[in-house]
Amino acid sequence: MSQPPQPQPATNPARMEKIVSLCKRRGFIFQSSEIYGGLNGCWDYGPLGVELKRNLKDYWWRVMVRERDDIVGMDGSILMNRAVWKASGHEETFTDPMVDCRNCKARLRADQLPQKDGVPYCSTCGSRDLTDARAFNLMFLTYVGATQDESSKTYLRPETAQAIFVQFKNVLEVSRKKLPFGIAQIGKAFRNEINPRNFTFRSREFEQMELEYFCAPAQGRQLLDYWLHERLRFYQDIGIPRESLHVHEIPADERAFYSQGTYDIEFEFPFGIQELEGVAYRTDYDLTQHINASGKPLDYFDEETKQRFVPHVVEPSAGVDRTALALICSAYDEETVTDEKGKSETRIVLKFHPRIAPIKAGIFPLLKNNGQLVAKAREITALLRPHMMTFYDEGGAIGRRYRRQDEIGTPFGITVDFETLGEKGDTLKDTVTLRHRDTMRQERIPIKDLLALLLPQVT
Ligand code: ATP
Repeated sequence: MSQPPQPQPATNPARMEKIVSLCKRRGFIFQSSEIYGGLNGCWDYGPLGVELKRNLKDYWWRVMVRERDDIVGMDGSILMNRAVWKASGHEETFTDPMVDCRNCKARLRADQLPQKDGVPYCSTCGSRDLTDARAFNLMFLTYVGATQDESSKTYLRPETAQAIFVQFKNVLEVSRKKLPFGIAQIGKAFRNEINPRNFTFRSREFEQMELEYFCAPAQGRQLLDYWLHERLRFYQDIGIPRESLHVHEIPADERAFYSQGTYDIEFEFPFGIQELEGVAYRTDYDLTQHINASGKPLDYFDEETKQRFVPHVVEPSAGVDRTALALICSAYDEETVTDEKGKSETRIVLKFHPRIAPIKAGIFPLLKNNGQLVAKAREITALLRPHMMTFYDEGGAIGRRYRRQDEIGTPFGITVDFETLGEKGDTLKDTVTLRHRDTMRQERIPIKDLLALLLPQVT
């Protein structure tokens, strides 16, 4: 299942820089609070970024919840009773090892320090004068209510999963499911990472897409492998090629003590191979912790075998922001093309899968000062809009308009020209040029066929 250790592909900082700059230039991702100097580890998604993320989350929800009989959704609160975080073990052990640099006072993650001749050094100033590592808890502390004392303390959730575990019984009862069945959730999580880095990859505020899949103990191992394959298929279905994904099976001595198997699904980012998602067989650990701490029964009665037991759980836990970044990195391409005048130029294109692309179709009247062309293009926009995100653009030469859409990954360009108006005879009347982003191929399509042609490709 897991692959033998692979040689790490060379990192490509120049490519990453271009991607970061495109993200800002075209409105995918901005630094949070930018006009005040930013806030480390926090990011804002602009008009295109928010569409990309929404498409990703909607597709995850569609395949994980809506298209299955055995999974239901929920949306838990971000703030929860502190007792949850005591019982889950987060208050005690949700920590990363941290060292201080005595020279420049930087605080660094001890397990991610660069090394020279086997000796770790400070990634900020290069000094080897570092303190011993100590545990730093990643949860953001906050107070609920008007008094700030021990009794009002809680944390911003560092994962969405715990809301699912503590609502297990309620959801089981109302949904009338039998094992195996799952509860899915998408939502924000917060971790006070010691060193946020690699753009959005390691953020302090991010979103997770998590499934807790409950089962009988005997089914756990097999379901772990089932979910690994389902999740690998998901990434391919959103356009991330299998070759750029790696499966890392976590060895027993590196896994959480309660886990009977964990896979990391990793992606070849320009800054190295890094985790996108963890798929973990967590046994009955979480439910048992909450049964013991709350005193409430979170077990399951199997009508057929007449047995009562605490369900085991397999958890595929993915990051929205990391996947969005992987989608952008995977799609980014530069090509040398020759324009109409024979001049060669670089075409930047984001080759997003159409179902993930922020904008599905660019709609262009050939000339902006021709009322009939504009009216037809507006008509097509109105036709497609209820079904997909479109972008109407009448400014500049048509070639430049195509390039602008290539750079943001719009898979289809629709141009309304004089043929559309019937000026070259009846056969071409009410047809448009449909341009395909990756091949730049153009074809003539009747307006009435557009929706039926595009819709299955973009959903
Ligand atoms: P890492 O080892 O990279 O810190 P993790 O193993 O602690 O990640 P999990 O606790 O398994 O991560 O969280 C599940 C998923 O949530 C991760 O695979 C990732 O996609 C996402 N995630 C976790 N931490 C962050 C973060 N700081 N920024 C963005 N996404 C994150």
